[in-house]
Amino acid sequence: MATKDERRAELTAVFREARVCTRCPELARTRTQVVFGAGNADADLMFVGEAPGAKEDEQGIPFVGAAGKLLDQLLGDVGLARPDVFIANVLRCRPPGNRDPLPMEIENCSDYLMRQVELIQPRVICTLGNFSTKLLRADPTGISRLHGQAEILVIGQRAVRLYPLFHPAAALYTRSLLDTLRADFARLPALLALDPPEQPPPAAPPEPAVPEPALAAPEPEPVPVLVELPRQPYEPAPPPEPEPPDDRQLGLF
Ligand code: SF4
Repeated sequence: MATKDERRAELTAVFREARVCTRCPELARTRTQVVFGAGNADADLMFVGEAPGAKEDEQGIPFVGAAGKLLDQLLGDVGLARPDVFIANVLRCRPPGNRDPLPMEIENCSDYLMRQVELIQPRVICTLGNFSTKLLRADPTGISRLHGQAEILVIGQRAVRLYPLFHPAAALYTRSLLDTLRADFARLPALLALDPPEQPPPAAPPEPAVPEPALAAPEPEPVPVLVELPRQPYEPAPPPEPEPPDDRQLGLF
């Protein structure tokens, strides 16, 4: 079991990795910076939103615009503040023009979110809106049907209480949603007071690799046998017999 300091150091290592991530070429090209997430690295409560917007992209911190102010208010209403919680998103880079995250981008970035969950070890995760709710529940059911209903799920290798909430950006302009969000938020302290969910048994260590059958030793290369031939005493070849004079060459007939 890693200590708090070890988990924190590992989270910093994940941040360094994400900071230069180019898994989504378009987002890597258009972002100002990666918005990794911010808050308490040992928080009991974690929020997961959708993706950074223009202000988050500029400042590198999640939820700093109008929706962020509302989130701060809602936290304050239940006696919490940002340093008590960790806030992250489904995507760590801003989609251009604030378009919806693409399925491939969500898949690319989910590895960072899973590692954040495993290292921060929250007891309760509030998904904010549809994207994070669908991702963490691995189910297409929308937020309208699920908000305010906690359930225990295993995320990565951690059992947590998942508590879907409307996204504060959606509640900014719709009074009824804001009232619902406030009412759902008000149940958070009671959720946090529950015993932490029982953790699943640690994953079995990988089976030891079955050794490959030993390969037959290669046939030895045939060694060329050098045969010493009996040495013959050197005898110079007899001088060639003088050619019989060619009469013609001599000019004789
Ligand atoms: S969105 Fe996530 S996976 Fe995609 S480039 Fe940014 S950090 Fe990498």
